[in-house]
Amino acid sequence: MAVDLSGQIYRALQGALDKARRANVEGRTAEARATYRECARLMQDYAKYAPTLAEKVRRLNTAKEYLAQAEGKTERAEPAPAVPPASAPAAKPSSAAAERPRDAYSDAIEALVYRARVTWADIGGLDETKREIRSAFALGVVKTPAGLNIEGWRNILLYGPPGTGKTLLAAAASNEIAATFLNVRAGDVLSKYFGESTRLVSALFAYAAAHEPCVVFLDEFDALGIPRDQSDSGAERRMLSAILTELDGLSGKGARHAVLTIAATNAPWALDAAALSRFDKRIYVPLPDRAARAAVLRIHLDAKGYRLDGDYGALAAATDGTSGRELARLCKEVANRMIHEANPDLIDRNVEALKAYTLHTRPLTMADFEPVLASLKAETPPAAVRRYEAFASTT
Ligand code: ATP
Repeated sequence: MAVDLSGQIYRALQGALDKARRANVEGRTAEARATYRECARLMQDYAKYAPTLAEKVRRLNTAKEYLAQAEGKTERAEPAPAVPPASAPAAKPSSAAAERPRDAYSDAIEALVYRARVTWADIGGLDETKREIRSAFALGVVKTPAGLNIEGWRNILLYGPPGTGKTLLAAAASNEIAATFLNVRAGDVLSKYFGESTRLVSALFAYAAAHEPCVVFLDEFDALGIPRDQSDSGAERRMLSAILTELDGLSGKGARHAVLTIAATNAPWALDAAALSRFDKRIYVPLPDRAARAAVLRIHLDAKGYRLDGDYGALAAATDGTSGRELARLCKEVANRMIHEANPDLIDRNVEALKAYTLHTRPLTMADFEPVLASLKAETPPAAVRRYEAFASTT
């Protein structure tokens, strides 16, 4: 039986890279070059253990970069980092994660790890969407009987107007099974890791595989499809193609990682066919209908301890066209007004007096909502809703 040496090779590679970097920074050029040559050899060995063809190609390309560095043919100050042996067959994910040496992107990735506390009960409406996402995740983590090649949806695209609960859905999916939740804003990665964003993407998906079950949430996904200005350098396209390569690797034969990628966008029409095709499941997350609005209002009032002396149905009817985020904001505004009215001298008290003071509250009425509703203007105009619906009907 072949012995898996990827962990050992990876550790040797990390050591060699550190040594090469130090020598480079300290101006010991001959030593740096010799060590980069050693890095290239180790990376070629490491490529033999790649879980997918795409990963193998990437490792071999990285080996070439180390060689270029060794021969002084590159301007790069930093050599490309090694991606950890995320899927070394003999390694158990949790212990592999615990043993993993830190690489150049560990801190950046850990900053994206988010402990999701959202539950399905915190999301009003969207019952069918919740069911689809739960079933996708269930299929991603169950053991399948021998000989049965069943695959759940691994790559899901959520699209729809702003503030409709796309992030909440992804967070609840990860919370339900205590998955690692990586919350990645494409725009942030591009601006912070410009030029390095493709490497960050590789490291990110390797991290996800090693910390399975994991939800990789790619927010503002359309930012990768739209050139931001005339001086667009193609960084968006490079990052997008790195992500698409990872998605191919994740759904490739033999990849059994419980990694669910959920991308979200307000502008699905900005995604080109190559990007869209990677998402085997595309889900429209619309503005809430009347029943869903009532559910969302309950979550932001009842569930937070406020009482409504009035009819949720009537309030839902008066908020046609608003998103969940706008409803949450409405509830907060009305509740704050009530608190200020019921505690008029709050701001005149000193800190000691405030500590001893218990807030007065009272039930909210429809009259409390009226002045705020009067100035409420839905963010998503009907024409934009029609555009989403047209997209949904053709996709
Ligand atoms: P964007 O497209 O702008 O990123 P989004 O669709 O990801 O928005 P979320 O971030 O999930 O929207 O929601 C924003 C906030 O709006 C939530 O934190 C929550 O307070 C409220 N909200 C949105 N939808 C719902 C919902 N269905 N139920 C309860 N609250 C909701």
